[in-house]
Amino acid sequence: MLPEIVVIGGGVIGSSITYHLARDGVKVMQLEKGSIANQGAASRASAGGVRLNNRDVREFPLAKASITRWKSLEEELDADLEYSPTGQIMLYDHSTSLEELKNQEKKNDAHKIQYEIVNHNRLQHLIPGLSSEFLSGIYYPSGGHANVLLTTVAFSEAARRLGATFKKGVEVYSIIKKSGKVTGVQTSEGNIHCGLVINAAGAWAPALHNTLSLSLPIKPYCHQMSATFAAPPILKGPVISVHGQRISLKQTIDGRIRAGGGYAAKKGPDRYTGIFNEESLFRQRKTAESIIPSMKDYQVDFVYHGVEGHCVDDIPILGAMPNVSGYLLAAGFSGHGFTLSPAVGQVLAEMAQSKTPSISIKGLTVDRHFDHVPSIKKHIHNSPG
Ligand SMILES: Cc1cc2nc3c(=O)[nH]c(=O)nc-3n(C[C@H](O)[C@H](O)[C@H](O)COP(=O)(O)OP(=O)(O)OC[C@H]3O[C@@H](n4cnc5c(N)ncnc54)[C@H](O)[C@@H]3O)c2cc1C
Repeated sequence: MLPEIVVIGGGVIGSSITYHLARDGVKVMQLEKGSIANQGAASRASAGGVRLNNRDVREFPLAKASITRWKSLEEELDADLEYSPTGQIMLYDHSTSLEELKNQEKKNDAHKIQYEIVNHNRLQHLIPGLSSEFLSGIYYPSGGHANVLLTTVAFSEAARRLGATFKKGVEVYSIIKKSGKVTGVQTSEGNIHCGLVINAAGAWAPALHNTLSLSLPIKPYCHQMSATFAAPPILKGPVISVHGQRISLKQTIDGRIRAGGGYAAKKGPDRYTGIFNEESLFRQRKTAESIIPSMKDYQVDFVYHGVEGHCVDDIPILGAMPNVSGYLLAAGFSGHGFTLSPAVGQVLAEMAQSKTPSISIKGLTVDRHFDHVPSIKKHIHNSPG
């Protein structure tokens, strides 16, 4: 039997879309060139931060809806996602002016984001071992972190239980279009015809999009993470970010302290493949030790990396393309798509069934004006983790 809908990509976004479609009773098939949360893809390497704060305003509706879903996602998917509702904290050192803090407060108030300004003493309580350089912070009680591999597998397992079909090890070569309508995909196992194709191929999405003679302002960027050996519980509180710096720090359930923040892997044999970058690891460690001086006692066990599609304006592109029917896109998550995965799956499934999205995606469609965000700003204000 032919699928009604084909989803390309077995990352957290493709798997969430597949789950939401299957939940609505749609006959959906997911195609993945490797395995679910494929090695080298973003959903295998992601830092797993679940964060509402410090986002582009256009992402807020999806982020807020997702944060609500995260609270009961383990129950919904009947799986352990290692979700830790620790909240998030943004630290500020002496270089931050009172005005900058006030501005952030105003933004939080304007968008009804729950937060608490914390002073030095309270900071020491929330993060024992924090360097005395940090005089204040903004604590965000929502969100926390979860395991991305487990989450991706849980979405796809739940979809399978609801009747979705999966083809792993099947690569999509191109998207087939006839007279302005997408009719299927050409794959390593022959052509598959369907009523609608959803391109959720992460950093590879633009290459598939090109087969429709269309281009996207999305480029691959390979992020490098590091994980220490299991440490005593020293960072069990909120996920740590630092204003004006590239860093995210958290301690996962296995006791490892994981550092992210958009440090690049070295360029590998192609645009999608990274290799170990010693310089990035050195800089990331230095930053981590400047925040938690005792980090130097916890040596790095391994580093890992994954490629993410970065959009020129640092937010994803979602939905239909002008003049092409039977095709939807969900790509360009720019280092912060994991948080959004429950709501993105929901709205893409709705759009695929010609329903009006129940969560606003205003400003996230392809018809927006694409403002270039300088790369330094990109990685600091909305950095992965
Ligand atoms: C190191 C790192 C840290 C991050 N930290 C955070 C964080 O803390 N919080 C947060 O919210 N977000 C974070 N992100 C971002 C988040 O992980 C990504 O936005 C999200 O995982 C993207 O999922 P995806 O499904 O779009 O892409 P991917 O996970 O890359 O999945 C795309 C899939 O498509 C498959 N595919 C590609 N081409 C084809 C083809 N032709 N045929 C068939 N299959 C194909 C690939 O094999 C891959 O499995 C981070 C990302 C990275 C890399």
